[in-house]
Amino acid sequence: MIQDIAPHVYDNAFAVRRTPQEGDLLILCREGELLLRKEQAAAPAAWPEEDGTLSFPAVQDIPDVRAFWRECREQDQAEQDAGDEQTEPRGGDRAENGFYRMGGVTLVYLFCIDRVAFYGADGGSRDRIAGALAGEYGWVPSRKLRNAQPNVLAYAGVTALQLARWREEHHFCGKCGEKMRPSETERAYVCPSCGLAVYPKISPAVIVAVIDRRKEEPRILLTKYAGRTYANYALIAGFAEIGETIEDTVHREVMEEVGLHVKNLRFYKSQPWSFSDSLLMGFYCELDGSSQIHLQAEELALGEWKTREEMPVRSSDISLTSEMMERFRQGLV
Ligand SMILES: [Zn+2]
Repeated sequence: MIQDIAPHVYDNAFAVRRTPQEGDLLILCREGELLLRKEQAAAPAAWPEEDGTLSFPAVQDIPDVRAFWRECREQDQAEQDAGDEQTEPRGGDRAENGFYRMGGVTLVYLFCIDRVAFYGADGGSRDRIAGALAGEYGWVPSRKLRNAQPNVLAYAGVTALQLARWREEHHFCGKCGEKMRPSETERAYVCPSCGLAVYPKISPAVIVAVIDRRKEEPRILLTKYAGRTYANYALIAGFAEIGETIEDTVHREVMEEVGLHVKNLRFYKSQPWSFSDSLLMGFYCELDGSSQIHLQAEELALGEWKTREEMPVRSSDISLTSEMMERFRQGLV
């Protein structure tokens, strides 16, 4: 799945925020698009150690950052020549928590994967960097990440996209309208006027594989969603509503979408699905009662029972849905 990046290690601990260094990467996001190296926009990206080429720009590719570092070095040299002790750490002013002002641009720390730190940039800084890199880098729709390799960069990209969306939606307090500030103690925005704290948006949702075991050949319920370009088979899926347990969500979504009762819920795995700000929780469960499907027409275009032999072989392996379907096809559930 997209988050399975081992042996690489994702570290999003809030305490780990460091000054941008050479070799760190920049993931710029704009309205569902990411800035990627142009010749790689449709082709695989590359992790640094594999062949030295990067799909995302590195921090040192930004002219403002190079100029800033040069100034820092010159300043350090001048201080050294004058015999002064160096007072400021070189490499970036910490403008605000996790935000680094470097010359004409401000970078925001996102997370680390292994020893590489990832940064974003918003608004004017983002546009200024994208403009400076326009010859080599271009805006690419985030859906490209679904097929991008290596998985570790696709995962970094979509995670950065969710964080960027969250930052963009919280410039101002939703309660009193004041400009929000990044928290000093956690990944949050805090209103300096009324104290409202806003955390990254993560919506819990379920993926449900309904299995009917009452026939000789067990069957699984596959669906196709209405009005979507994604035309592959899917499973029942939906967001948790306020006031319900995640098990309630499973029962309600299955009833709403196909009009069936289920029992024997078994949690399988979860998956961060940053494309839609969600945390997916996968459940296998068994049909309880009639297998007669009543489709919710606004949601689903199709709902069908399939035996293992009738299942399509999945081409993608990044999603929890695919993995759950494939496990059924292989007779593992
Ligand atoms: Zn406020």
